[in-house]
Amino acid sequence: MSLTPDEARAMHEEICVLDLHADTAKLMDKLGYDLAVRHEPPMPRRMNVLGHVDLPRLREGGVAGQFFSFWTTPYPERGCARSVARQLDALDTAMGKHPADLAWARTGADVRAAKAAGRIAALGGIEGGQALEGDLGTIEAFARRGVRYLGLLHFSANAIGRPAKGRGADGSAGLTGFGRDAVRECERCGVIVDLAHINRRGFFDALEVATLPPMVSHTGVLGVHAHWRNIDDEQLRAVAQRGGCVGIIFARRYLGSASIEAVVDHLLHVIDVAGEDAPALGSDFDGFVVPPVGLEDIAALPNLTVALSRRGVGPRVLEKILGGNVLRVLDAVPAWGQLAEPA
Ligand SMILES: [Zn+2]
Repeated sequence: MSLTPDEARAMHEEICVLDLHADTAKLMDKLGYDLAVRHEPPMPRRMNVLGHVDLPRLREGGVAGQFFSFWTTPYPERGCARSVARQLDALDTAMGKHPADLAWARTGADVRAAKAAGRIAALGGIEGGQALEGDLGTIEAFARRGVRYLGLLHFSANAIGRPAKGRGADGSAGLTGFGRDAVRECERCGVIVDLAHINRRGFFDALEVATLPPMVSHTGVLGVHAHWRNIDDEQLRAVAQRGGCVGIIFARRYLGSASIEAVVDHLLHVIDVAGEDAPALGSDFDGFVVPPVGLEDIAALPNLTVALSRRGVGPRVLEKILGGNVLRVLDAVPAWGQLAEPA
């Protein structure tokens, strides 16, 4: 039963739609990007690599919760923790200005409460373990400010391990001792381990240490498109077996196509290989990606819901893909871990 665009929008109003990865906080910090203002057309117009997310378009897309991922340039590593703090500051400032529109969320209950109050839920993540600057104590400090996942690697080697590609890539090197400790510290602090960008060896090393569900916040799958950035079927199954989820990216170069159908292909492959409890959305909007036609910004998200329904995905599985699986992982990795929750 395929949905009309209006039916898809109505469905988004009913359920909790979540996106696992957008780099918008960097634009807010560096460019003074105003999250409360509609940015149209996207920037720059012809390439559409930035300016995909703001509050008016999150509302239009029927999104309940957006993960803001804080990325940093890793050289020098010193300053990366400060950069993450600045991106958190930028979100705090936006929330201070627009308390009726935006609220921090850590849990599924927080996301549902924000939605019930008519607010967009903001969740935090870090992209790249260089943000720790080699100090495990930063994990707790970031967790206390709202960070809910740590992407262990980005485009360069750091104290945790090696990237799938980029400076310091080495397929034979796995997680370091510090990296193993970082995984344990994440779990102690209620921070979900994000395995996007890490090399294959480090991926499985991290899963060996982890006791709680992991996620891959934004990726494509090798079963659909051969690209160094994408993960294979064994990796998909390993995440699913541990109760985790995999956010499919909206970037043409990793999808292997400019068609919205490619996003559907990658999501359906996750289901085929790893089951319906694994797939999620990880747009990578505002991260210098070129999204597919029909999915140009977060406001266009109902088009993906329509496309999925046309390919035979029913309401129950749609709800899981669009946010249900992420809510499950948020519940499975308690937000404060073993930290004392502030009163
Ligand atoms: Zn990324």
